[in-house]
Amino acid sequence: MTAANLDQAKQQLLAEVDTRTQKLLQVSHSIWDHPELCFEEYFAHDILTSALEEEGIAVTKGACDLPTAFIAEAGSTGPTVAVVCEYDALPGIGHACGHNIIAAAGLGAGLAMAAQAERLGGRVRIIGTPAEEGGGGKVFMIEAGAFEGVDVAMMVHPANHELSCMSTLAVATLRATYTGKASHASASPEQGRNALDGAVMGYMGVAALRQHIRAAERVHGIFTDGGDKPNIVPKRAETFWFVRSTDFQQLSELMARVEACLKAGAQSAGCEVALSTADMPPYDVISENEPLAALYAANAALCNRFPAVPSSQEKVSGSTDMGNVSQVVPSIHPMIKVAPDNVPIHTPEFAQYTRSPQGDKAVIDGAKMLAATAADLWLGEGSLSEVTAAFHLQQIP
Ligand SMILES: [Zn+2]
Ligand SMILES: [Zn+2]
Repeated sequence: MTAANLDQAKQQLLAEVDTRTQKLLQVSHSIWDHPELCFEEYFAHDILTSALEEEGIAVTKGACDLPTAFIAEAGSTGPTVAVVCEYDALPGIGHACGHNIIAAAGLGAGLAMAAQAERLGGRVRIIGTPAEEGGGGKVFMIEAGAFEGVDVAMMVHPANHELSCMSTLAVATLRATYTGKASHASASPEQGRNALDGAVMGYMGVAALRQHIRAAERVHGIFTDGGDKPNIVPKRAETFWFVRSTDFQQLSELMARVEACLKAGAQSAGCEVALSTADMPPYDVISENEPLAALYAANAALCNRFPAVPSSQEKVSGSTDMGNVSQVVPSIHPMIKVAPDNVPIHTPEFAQYTRSPQGDKAVIDGAKMLAATAADLWLGEGSLSEVTAAFHLQQIP
C-alpha cells in the first residue's frame, strides 16, 4: 500500500460519511430528543440497529444479554477495528454528556468502514455499549467477549476542548444505608435513633477526610434518602458516593478510608450502616496509546481540527468504562470540541451544544476522523504493529 493509495482510501471513507450526513444528523437529533438513562436506552438501540440493518449489515441486538447493547460486523479479512457507540443520558439534564454525538459519529464511521471493508481488506465491529453513566455496560460486554478478536477500539467524545486523548481516574461507587429507630421527634425523641444524623456525620467525616487525600483523588456524594417527615425521627437514610483515584490499588486504599468515615457516622448516631459497591462495576483508568492518538491527531487535520495532548493541569478529569476496554485492547478516547472552553460537560448549557450546528459538525467530523484512523490501521505501513507494541509496553507493570 503506497502513501497515495492510503490517502485515496481515506478520501473514499470521508466521501462515504458525507453521503450519509442527513441520516447521521437525524440519528443524533432523535437520540437527543429521547434521552434515556442507564440500561433503558431502547429507543437509541432500535434507531441505531435499524440504521445498520438498512445497509445490510448483520446486527446482534440485545448483545451480551444486555437488552440495549448491540454488535454489528462487516468485512471478512484483515485487522478488526471496533467503533464504540455510547447513547445513554443523564437524569434531569438529558444529553449533557453528548452521547448522542458519540452514537451518531460511531455509526457514521462504522457505516463508512463497512461500505469499504471488503475492498480495503479490513474488518469493522460496531459495538453499542449501554450505561456509561454509572452502569458499566462495557465492563459486562468485555466479560461476555464482545472485544475478543478486536485489534483496536475507538470512539470520540464531545467536550469543550479538542484533545487527542483523555486522562481519567478509576472510580468505584459506595452506597451507605443507615438504619436507626423511628420515634416521635418531639414527644419521645429519646426513644429514637436518627439514621439521618448517622448519614450526616458520615458525610462530614468524608468532608474532613478530603483535606488529607492525594491531589488527584476525588470523593463526592449525595443524599438519596433523608427521612419522610420532620416529626418522625428518620429510621432510614442513605448516601451514595463516587470515589476516584489514579489506579485500582490506590482506589482500594481510599475506599477503606471513606468506608471508615461512613461507619463512624453510624456509630455516633447509634445506628447501623450497610455499605454496598453493587451499583456499578469499578471503572479502570484509560491506558493511553500514543501512536494511536498520533494517528487520530493527524487525521483530525483532514477536518481542520488540531487536537492537543492534555497538559498536566488538564490531566485529571472524569472516569469512563472505556478505561476498562483500554486495558484489554489498544484504545482511543479523544475529545471533540462542540462548546466554548467555559462550558463543561454535565451542565444544562453543554446539553444545548450537543444538538447545535457545532454538535452536528462534530458528528460528521468525528465519523471521518475515526474512519480515516481505521484506514491507517487497516492499510498503513506498520501503523497497527506500532499501536500493538505500545499497548504491550503499557501492560508491563
Ligand atoms: Zn458523562
Ligand atoms: Zn460521556
